Formats: sequence, C-alpha cells, structure tokens
Amino acid sequence: MFEDFPQFVPQKICLSCQGCCRFLDEKSDWRPRESEGRVKTKKIRDVFYCQFLEEKSNKCSEYFNRPLQCVFYPFLVEKKEDKIVVGVHLACPFIQENLHMKDFDIYRKKLEGFFKEKNFIGFLKDNEYLVEDYSSYQAEIETLFSL
Ligand code: SF4
Repeated sequence: MFEDFPQFVPQKICLSCQGCCRFLDEKSDWRPRESEGRVKTKKIRDVFYCQFLEEKSNKCSEYFNRPLQCVFYPFLVEKKEDKIVVGVHLACPFIQENLHMKDFDIYRKKLEGFFKEKNFIGFLKDNEYLVEDYSSYQAEIETLFSL
C-alpha cells in the first residue's frame, strides 16, 4: 500500500553511501522496526550492520520486503507532544545538500498528500509500533508536517 511511493534519495546515491543501514551500537534506536522488535545487527569491524545489508554490494537482501521505515527513510514518523509528525533525518548527506531546495519541497508536498490520501494516520493507529519516540535526537531531525 505504501511501498510504491518513490524514494527521495536516488538509488545510485544510496548505494554509494556508507551511512544508512549501519549503526553505532548493537541496540541502536535507529534500527528499523519489524512487527516484533527491530532488525538485528551483525558486527563488521567496529560497525553494526543491519542483518540484511550485504557488505560487498551495499544492497539490502530484503529490499522488496524491507521494513516500512526503510521505505520512507530519511523521512521519519514520530510522536511529538500529542501529535504524530513527519520529519526528515538531517544526518543523511543527500538531505544536507538538498534540504529546502525546489525538488525537496515538491517531494515533501507529494509525501504529505500521499499520506493523507492513503489514510496513513489510520494505518498507524493499527501499527503503533511504527511511530517512534525520537525525543533524544531532536537536534538531528527537522519536523516537516503533522499527520
Ligand atoms: S532492512 Fe534493508 S534497507 Fe532496512 S536497514 Fe536493513 S539493509 Fe537497510
């Protein structure tokens, strides 16, 4: 239902980036949610890779079944005060270069329209585990709109 929405970051850029899908600790809050918990990690040198990230190709072995949070990343759904909001993760290098550029603002509007049209808020009520508490990470998130 939501998986077909196009990603903002071009695939070529994602595949050449060493940021996503890797975590600083084994139990990182940034690991995407599966219905029962979060993805597991495997330690490669000093970094914890998502269990599905293929080291050599930098590809996700579960790409077509990846968690919904991976589909929308670097856009994030979080609970803020009493609202559910969508923000963007400023740690993404592509976002740092494109934040509030014309294409970013066009995408943001499309994403907001898509979530409203598809009743994403209704979906989240049935899947509350997808709404994160990122209150400890506000310095690296810019809130874009509420649902
Ligand atoms: S499931 Fe795939 S896209 Fe999501 S963090 Fe793991 S490797 Fe990355």
